[in-house]
Order: sequence, then C-alpha cells, then structure tokens
Amino acid sequence: MSSYVRIIGAASLLDPASGVDGPGEIWIRDDVIVALGAGRPALGPDDEVRVLDAAGTTITPMFVDIHVHLREPGGEESETIRTGTAAALRGGYCTLYAMANTAPTCDRPEVLRTVIERAREAGPVEVVPVSSLSVGLRGRELVDLEANAAAGAGAFSDDGAWLADERLALEALRWAGRNGAVVMQHCEDFELTGSGVLHACSCVQRAGLPGIARDAEDRAVARDIRLAAEAQSALHVCHVSTAGAVAAIRGARAEGLPVSGEVTPHHLVLTAADAVAGGPDFKMKPPLREQHDVDALIEALADGTLDAVATDHAPHSEARKAGGFLTAPFGAIGVETAFPVLFTQLVQSGRLPLRRLVHALTAGPCRVVRRVAPRLVVGAVAQLNFLDLVTTRPVDRAALASRSQNCPFHGQLLAGWPAASWLGGVLHLHGEPGCVRYRTLPGGAGGRKPPSGPLRDT
Ligand SMILES: [Zn+2]
Ligand SMILES: [Zn+2]
Repeated sequence: MSSYVRIIGAASLLDPASGVDGPGEIWIRDDVIVALGAGRPALGPDDEVRVLDAAGTTITPMFVDIHVHLREPGGEESETIRTGTAAALRGGYCTLYAMANTAPTCDRPEVLRTVIERAREAGPVEVVPVSSLSVGLRGRELVDLEANAAAGAGAFSDDGAWLADERLALEALRWAGRNGAVVMQHCEDFELTGSGVLHACSCVQRAGLPGIARDAEDRAVARDIRLAAEAQSALHVCHVSTAGAVAAIRGARAEGLPVSGEVTPHHLVLTAADAVAGGPDFKMKPPLREQHDVDALIEALADGTLDAVATDHAPHSEARKAGGFLTAPFGAIGVETAFPVLFTQLVQSGRLPLRRLVHALTAGPCRVVRRVAPRLVVGAVAQLNFLDLVTTRPVDRAALASRSQNCPFHGQLLAGWPAASWLGGVLHLHGEPGCVRYRTLPGGAGGRKPPSGPLRDT
C-alpha cells in the first residue's frame, strides 16, 4: 500500500529551470514528486490518497538564499538559528547559506559542525555554513580550507569584511579553483569607505552624513575579477549595488570568466533618498545607491548577468539600531519579505518577468554554489511553495518571525506572500488558515480510501 498526496487547484506550476509553466496537479509519494501536470500515478487497490487544495496559488520550488546572517553563535540577542530559519520558512526558503561573521567566527570545523547540528534541531530549513576565508575574519592568515570544506562548508567568504590582502586572496582563489569550491567576496575597499554610513550623493550630503562612494565597491570588484582570472577560479560577488560593478561582471562574463553575482531585494527597490528619509533600518552595506544603479541591477537580473537574489538578511536588535545613522550597525532583515517585495515592486510593475524572479531564487543561486536545485520534476524531493499572488497585506515588522525588526519595508502593502510550503514531508501554513488545505473530494475522486492520518500543519 502506498500513501499519496495529490495537490489540486493550483493556478499554475512554475519552475523556469525545468521548463514547467502551466496548470496541473502534483502527486507526492514518500516525499518525492511522482507525477506532475497532466500525469497520474498508477494507483493500486489499497493505495491511499490525501487531497491538498492549493486554492488558486502558484506552486514553485522552494527558494535558496546563499547569503544570510543568523547571528548564532554569539549574537543571539539579534537572531538565533531557530528564529532565523523560522522567518526563512515563512518566506518560502528551504536552504540558507549562513555567513561566518559570528562569535566565534565560523573559521574551523567545530564551529561549522555546531551550526549544522543546531540547525538540524531547529527545524526543517537546511542551514549550510559558509566558512570564513581568513582566521577570525582578520585578513592575515587563511583558514584550513581543506578541513573546513570536509566539515561541511558550502562556500568561503569573509563577508562583513573584504579579504583585501592580494596574496591571500589569490591563494584562496587558487585553492578554490583546484577544488571546485566557491569564494564569495564582499567587495569593498574599506580604505575608501572610511567613516561613510550611506551612499555618497547630494541628498546624503545635505543630510550632513558621511558617504560611501561607488568606487569603494567598483575597485574591489575589479581587483577580485582580475585575481579570479589569474587563479582560474570561480568568483562570486556578494550584494552587487553599483552600475559599475554590474558592468564589470558583465564584461568578465563576456570574456568567459566564471564570475557570478547576487543582488538583494533592498538594492533592487530602494535608493539613498529612501535611506535618508527612512532612518537606520535603511543603513546597510553596501549602501542603497541611486536610481540609475537600481535600473542597472534590475536589467542585470532580467538578462541573467546577476544569477541570484540573496537577501543578506542581517538582523540587529532594536537597541543596537537605535543610535541613529552614525552609530547604528549596517544591515536589514529580509528573508520573510523578499518574494512579496520583489513580486509587488518588480513583477507587478512589469519590470521583471515572474519566471526570472523565480529562477533567481531557485536554480540561479544553486548554480552559484554548485548544488542541485529544488525542482518541479518527477523524481525530485518535494520542496514546494504555494505563493498567493493575489491577496495584499501590509508588512508588519512586529509580526515577522525574526528576533529583530530592522525591516526597511515596514508598512508597505505587498502581494505575493507565500501561503504555505511543503518541506520535510509536512505542509507548513504561513498565511490565512484555510487557504491551502487538505480536503475530501466528493465521491472520493482520486483515491480508493478517504483521507486519514494526522494533518501536521505548523
Ligand atoms: Zn557583505
Ligand atoms: Zn552579508
């Protein structure tokens, strides 16, 4: 006897990387997709079928975020692995790559293993630790890259800092090139940043605040592309924010270099003027730039020059953010609002096709970190988002699952909230109860037996 879940009632199934875009059903057995679209499994006389009504939602693979900060160990007043992954699940994410700037730094196997173990205890969202490149993020000596890779590091990055030392950066890239590993650089020349807090432009100057010029990013990106070419290694550029950095990545790719880039939701929809008006929750690294940078980022995401949307989810407690622009730490939370923000502001406005957005949250980031992406294909493990593209509701930072509330989208009226996700063999409800739900079809259509067993909704 087999037990199936038959998902009916979806407005659409959408997995651009698999060429899936249209109506149909999904059948799951033992947490694996066994039929899709118009396909049906051959049912035996004793098989049991539970029917799940997708209630007009759009079903996509779950999302993968290759750049978050979960703050644990050491920063638990701002976020924990449990609260960060809970927020991510509600945002539709099944996998997170957690950056290494924790306390202690994630620079050795014991810390990597701790992160992996705590995430397993916390819930169904997978956390892949990113190892730092340098010991203690100090930029003076490289970590034991080999040992950290063996302990489960999914990538290597000094994010929060830039590995400025050219000799060390080249050595790390050479090792990565030989071993098929991924180096992610937070490209920022800190000498150029100086005491800057927001983007260097006239509106920030008028507000009397020190600025961070585009050059701080552009020069670091150019340097790292040069080193990656020399080392014959892949390079991933974190949180691209300037038109110049986009042009440099586009040029490198045109020459055939394996350079990838990610962009955050906030850099795709907000500017320095929004930051000046909005307060310290809009202070992040790199800073929010100007409209022509935003336009270049959207264009690069649309044409594939930028592979991935990554949130750079960076929780900071209210107390730490309270000090005003000059003293507040850099960063904004983002995993729970990423899809609704981008769906509402870019897809509904006609600036980005929905399939590009879904690709940049699924297959795009997985290609960067060289992992198998969640997919809507027969044989894949079921990791599904049920996206409600119709209902709008405002962002309420107090209602988010993150332990911190430094959200620059508070109060925005958004559509595209994930209503539910299927992960780990369980349906997780995020939105209004009763939207996506199990139900019995009249006449028992679809199954020989009525639904049974516990409905484990969370
Ligand atoms: Zn960074
Ligand atoms: Zn970061």
